[in-house]
Amino acid sequence: MIHVKQVSKTYTRNQTSISALKPVDLHIRSGEIFGIIGHSGAGKSTLIRCLNCLERPTTGTVTVNGVDLTALHGKKLQAQRQQIGMIFQHFHLLSSATVFDNIAFPLRLAKADRKHIRERVEELAELVGLQHVLNQYPSQLSGGQKQRVGIARALAMKPHVLLCDEATSALDPETTRAILQLLSRINRELGITIVLITHEMQVIRDICDRVAVMDAGEIVEQGDVIDVFLHP
Ligand code: ADP
Ligand code: ADP
Repeated sequence: MIHVKQVSKTYTRNQTSISALKPVDLHIRSGEIFGIIGHSGAGKSTLIRCLNCLERPTTGTVTVNGVDLTALHGKKLQAQRQQIGMIFQHFHLLSSATVFDNIAFPLRLAKADRKHIRERVEELAELVGLQHVLNQYPSQLSGGQKQRVGIARALAMKPHVLLCDEATSALDPETTRAILQLLSRINRELGITIVLITHEMQVIRDICDRVAVMDAGEIVEQGDVIDVFLHP
């Protein structure tokens, strides 16, 4: 499903270079929940942003469903990105738009017709449990509700993959559990492959099938969660 080959990222600023990601290889299988764990600064965010070329790798290739994203630019890249949804720690919602319009945003960008937009938004709202707050604004919502809006918006274009960048790190433990359950249900019922990054072991234990451990821009270990963490 996702093949990462020798992907590295070097940031250059004021003539100094930071090697955020050393060349890494990763294979994410269709239908799994794949976790990436590591301390702050380990390169997790850089790596997950390379998966949809939100960050362009300095070297290497990222192939999603047989298409090499690193070879694409502009409209062709945009089109391929529709198969990859993304959610964020701080949600990144439009504060001046209602829940309905936040979820509708990608559908409007894709110039979907009004009837389709209304039906799709209502279907997504039901999936994530937001039917009753479609007219509200993000500032009126709890953190968990805001992340549900983020999830619904990320699923609007029917992606095959959902990337989650510290999606529960701004949430309390109870809300974290509820959002993880929702992600798990989306994985099971919709067959969407999930890649998530976290600094919390519990998140990996709760929902991931396989895990990669990152440190200082490298993957230091990867495998089934049960082998990497649960066996002594
Ligand atoms: P993590 O998500 O594991 O906390 P990051 O991928 O955010 O790690 O960061 C890895 C390294 O790259 C850190 O040293 C960070 O300071 C650096 N870094 C990340 N983004 C940038 C950027 N846009 N410009 C320069 N350095 C960056
Ligand atoms: P019409 O076709 O009657 O103009 P639209 O479907 O274009 O209606 O919707 C217009 C606006 O109404 C949308 O942008 C959205 O803000 C709001 N809206 C539509 N359906 C709902 C709904 N079920 N819940 C909340 N807001 C809605």
